[in-house]
Amino acid sequence: MRKQHCVSEEGEAFVIFEDCDGVYRCPVCGSPELDRPPYDVNGQASFDMCSCGFEFGYDDSNLACKDASDGIVANWLRWRVKVIEKNKRSRIELSRLEKNLRAIGVKLAFDLIPVRDDENT
Ligand SMILES: [Zn+2]
Repeated sequence: MRKQHCVSEEGEAFVIFEDCDGVYRCPVCGSPELDRPPYDVNGQASFDMCSCGFEFGYDDSNLACKDASDGIVANWLRWRVKVIEKNKRSRIELSRLEKNLRAIGVKLAFDLIPVRDDENT
């Protein structure tokens, strides 16, 4: 796993994870399915969409999307809660999601609240 450090024009810093095989992980759900980084080092979004439904550059922009809040990472969190909500009734889906999230340094607390997993970041 490689980390790409990004800083947006607004000065927001975040990390994008790349698997060893050159596949990028969705920063929202952790799914290893993006063939290019969702954001470049300057925080410019790819405008690709992950299977979790998040579109980089749209769902993280309060100029584009009315539901978006300020900040890229805040919108990842907003969307991640929805993804967890959607998957929590299926044990298989939930454990797959949990595994993907762990890979990007997020673990689910007992009440399914996503928290940063500092041991793995
Ligand atoms: Zn995703």
